[in-house]
Amino acid sequence: MARVLVVGAGLSGLACALEATLAGHHVVVLERSQRIGGRGTSQNIDGFPVGFGPHLFLKKGPFHNLVRKLSRVKLATAAIRLHRTEVVGHGIIRPLEDAKTSLVNKRILKDPNGTHALVSGCHFLSSWGGQRNDARYNALMKGNLLVSNEGWAGMVGRLAAALDEVGVFIECGLEVQRIETGKAYLVDGREIEADVIVLACGPSGAKKLVSSFDERLSEELFSSLKRLSASFVELALDAQPLSGKHAVIDIEDQFTILDYRAIQPRLGREGSHLSAVAIGGLSSDPGKTRFSSADERLEALLNFISHRASGWNQHVIHHSQQSKITLHDAYESRIEQLSMASKGILFAGTWVQGEHILADAAVHSGRAAGKSISSVQH
Ligand SMILES: Cc1cc2nc3c(=O)[nH]c(=O)nc-3n(C[C@H](O)[C@H](O)[C@H](O)COP(=O)(O)OP(=O)(O)OC[C@H]3O[C@@H](n4cnc5c(N)ncnc54)[C@H](O)[C@@H]3O)c2cc1C
Repeated sequence: MARVLVVGAGLSGLACALEATLAGHHVVVLERSQRIGGRGTSQNIDGFPVGFGPHLFLKKGPFHNLVRKLSRVKLATAAIRLHRTEVVGHGIIRPLEDAKTSLVNKRILKDPNGTHALVSGCHFLSSWGGQRNDARYNALMKGNLLVSNEGWAGMVGRLAAALDEVGVFIECGLEVQRIETGKAYLVDGREIEADVIVLACGPSGAKKLVSSFDERLSEELFSSLKRLSASFVELALDAQPLSGKHAVIDIEDQFTILDYRAIQPRLGREGSHLSAVAIGGLSSDPGKTRFSSADERLEALLNFISHRASGWNQHVIHHSQQSKITLHDAYESRIEQLSMASKGILFAGTWVQGEHILADAAVHSGRAAGKSISSVQH
């Protein structure tokens, strides 16, 4: 049995903690913020599950599979539908009342490598401007990109309940400041000994901690990582200014608005829950610079919402927004999970090599780290 310290209680850290505990190790999770779940969670505000921008999960992907396994209570899911999704300049993707257009578009969408705006729009919606991911694209085509009735907080809550049941200790409000082989130093001055330390604290958190251990190695490992940022707006409204549409995509400006409540009527209160995102376009993002600052990008997103969901500001129950959040931790290259295994340190997160993207990558890499502990035990 190894003593395992997991740094970060996002999806990757929680998945790792569960897997490591089930493998018989003694696990402690430390989280610097006051809440668990990281970017992949939501909070109930005025009856709406408000989170960090639009989130859809892949049916039977690593995240969904893990959450499904943890409880006998069935997760009620609903899929985003193409007959209620619009690509700006091209209309509804599969209009039910226009069989001819629907058929033409279906043919266009059959080829995920196509260059048509509808294909780009569907890739954008399924992988949020990251590298094209055929599994998620095909899932969107087949109605397998989902929203649950519990929001992401409910799904993270199932993970937390399972960890509680197996006796994993999660401490929030504790930041790890420095690590070395077998030891972590916390900001509050405490020290924790561990046989294996799993860095599940996002790439910048991990880079900082690796740098506290070995600056040159940190530079070598992390300098090739490119990140893609986003601005998001979350709006809980007592009206439906998107008129029942599930999503509106502007592929040119890389904007999308979802209405969670239209997709999953069992989620939140009556009205609508618009979750909008603007992706990339800053000089720090890969690709073309379109905005001089994150605030300018957020402003442009708010204008887009006003244009597509006019009158929304007369119906606000809750409004939150953030001008800059990292959406894709690793845009092109990723880091090997076991790069520092010989020193008793493992990596978990979407920036770790693997076939999945987004929350699925976080969960998959977390579980893989948990499984690797016995073989790297220091
Ligand atoms: C706008 C947006 C839209 C998204 N849409 C989707 C989607 O549709 N589908 C999907 O599957 N995924 C989506 N994602 C991605 C998904 O949210 C993330 O991939 C996933 O939550 C990442 O989990 P993680 O555990 O790797 O990292 P994080 O969630 O970043 O967790 C890392 C945790 O480590 C903690 N931490 C950092 N440093 C320290 C330290 N020194 N000490 C202690 N704790 C520390 C942080 O506070 C944080 O809680 C989206 C993300 C964003 C931002």
